[in-house]
Amino acid sequence: MTIQKLSDTIASQIAAGEVVDRPVSVVKELIENAIDARASEIRVEIRKAGRELIRVSDNGEGIQPNELELAVSRHATSKLSKTEELFDIKTLGFRGEALASIGSVSHVRLISRPGDMEVAAKLTVDGGSNSPVQKVAAPQGTEITVEDLFYNVPARLKFLRKDITEAKHITGLVTRYAMAYPHIRWTLTQDDRLEFQSTGSGNRLEILQALFGTQESKSLMPLNFSEKDLAIEGFISDLSLTRSNRKDITLFVNGRWVQDPTLTAAVIKAYNTMLMVGRYPVVVLFLSIPTNLVDVNVHPTKAEVRFREQDQVFSGVQRAIRRGLLAYTPIPDLNSLNLWGKQTPPNIPVSFDENWEVQPAEPIPTEKTYNGSAAQQEPLPGTHLPLLRLVGQVASTYLVAEGPDGLYLIDQHAAHERVLFDQMMAQYRASMIPSQKLIDAVPVELSPEKAGILAANLEIMASLGFEIEEFGPNTFLIRAIPTIVDRGDPKEAILSVVDAFEEDETPLEHEAQARVAARVCKGMAVKGGQLLSVDEQRNLLLNLEASHSPRTCPHGRPTMIHLSANLLERQFGRRGAR
Ligand code: ADP
Ligand code: MG
Repeated sequence: MTIQKLSDTIASQIAAGEVVDRPVSVVKELIENAIDARASEIRVEIRKAGRELIRVSDNGEGIQPNELELAVSRHATSKLSKTEELFDIKTLGFRGEALASIGSVSHVRLISRPGDMEVAAKLTVDGGSNSPVQKVAAPQGTEITVEDLFYNVPARLKFLRKDITEAKHITGLVTRYAMAYPHIRWTLTQDDRLEFQSTGSGNRLEILQALFGTQESKSLMPLNFSEKDLAIEGFISDLSLTRSNRKDITLFVNGRWVQDPTLTAAVIKAYNTMLMVGRYPVVVLFLSIPTNLVDVNVHPTKAEVRFREQDQVFSGVQRAIRRGLLAYTPIPDLNSLNLWGKQTPPNIPVSFDENWEVQPAEPIPTEKTYNGSAAQQEPLPGTHLPLLRLVGQVASTYLVAEGPDGLYLIDQHAAHERVLFDQMMAQYRASMIPSQKLIDAVPVELSPEKAGILAANLEIMASLGFEIEEFGPNTFLIRAIPTIVDRGDPKEAILSVVDAFEEDETPLEHEAQARVAARVCKGMAVKGGQLLSVDEQRNLLLNLEASHSPRTCPHGRPTMIHLSANLLERQFGRRGAR
């Protein structure tokens, strides 16, 4: 084989493979161009999931007739001219590749009229070759029609999913951009059916409700956060609204939709121990950060970005979410709490431990801070329990307590798990896990697989007060245990911890300890069905009141049900009845 220069057509098709691999990526490029052209109205029309037709029209600045051909040629852009600008990108596009790529794999018709022109100009591109530019009548702005996508790269067509899937992606894209740009009027039709429309009023809530429905929207809480160079706006779900995957975590950075795994992980981590394992929150965040602190040129479809101060951004995201959650986390209420509209985001200056994000859970008060300065330390509203008066124990499983706002039914096991977990993590953080030597070391034999897992995690175990030593093949000696385990069986504790390591496929840094602690505390917590003395019941309540996350156990299950005074009144027909 001799070396030859690729023809422009093949080169463009190769480039197209990166930029436009499916209909939704064409739609993305076209709407980003319309946004860059400062349109206040964008209409998207789709036929057959974009395979037959994609048309995006806007009322933006338009393209000069003599630049139409340039616009569809490769590496031609009006958005970038010098290298330095590449690290300070203020537009969504900058590579000058999209239109050329799209033109090389479809039939494109481009009609555009800039504000200063009387008539519009039209250009068609077929598989990469242009027709002469013609004058036509059209309103100000640009309309780009893409037909028969991938007609000349049949292999690409074979990779497309079912129409219904591709169509869903397009709807997802347009509605997300509508949320990011609420001042633009958006219209989306698919196969002549109006799928989505927004008014351009600038009100994100309106779009949110259209997307998630009024019911789910009630569980989404507005977020407003700023810190140094980072500002974050958006919505986060309370603990009652979760998904089985992370698809509803939507992140925009400077108006650009990014699907960045690390940033997404930061979001999930902020919910650490609050959601059940395998459940994910619904989150829509709009991050703003000076453009020179973000590198947007690191991914073929610009779906990922790189931050100059990555840690700062991630911890900012976590703090923002954490703060929002702490302020709102409702106690599950049969009355279905309406958080929406009832509360406004608190704007209380909170001093968080700067390093909290590398800690497995929120700061936890010790006995001392509870009796002394808890109030000054933690001014967030609505997170702590009100002072509760113990009424008694029911079915040896639940505590009944009364607060100023009604009745609380508390699951003693879940509540005790939370209390023990808080204690253990506070001790861990202070590097003061009280540990107790066993008079006789306890041998534990494990399967080779489990033994390998334990051997790899001995250091973590040691940091939590477990002194364990390898002793012959697949056998370990437990020499000391954290005092929290003193009532239990050390061997059982180790076995359940090994299980926890096993389940944990992607341990995030510093989370291993929290997981182990959660496991240990689960084993040590009082069980349902266990009769408690009045003193034990009272202590449990007191300790729970002192917790910063009293409403969930470390595994994310609720510790209590709240029957509000309102609900009781209504149920008994007292309200309004004279
Ligand atoms: P990029 O967006 O990276 O510059 P594109 O290939 O997407 O590259 O577009 C090339 C150029 O065509 C843009 O730089 C812009 O000047 C012009 N253009 C494309 N779409 C529009 C539009 N909807 N309105 C105005 N100008 C547009
Ligand atoms: Mg572009």
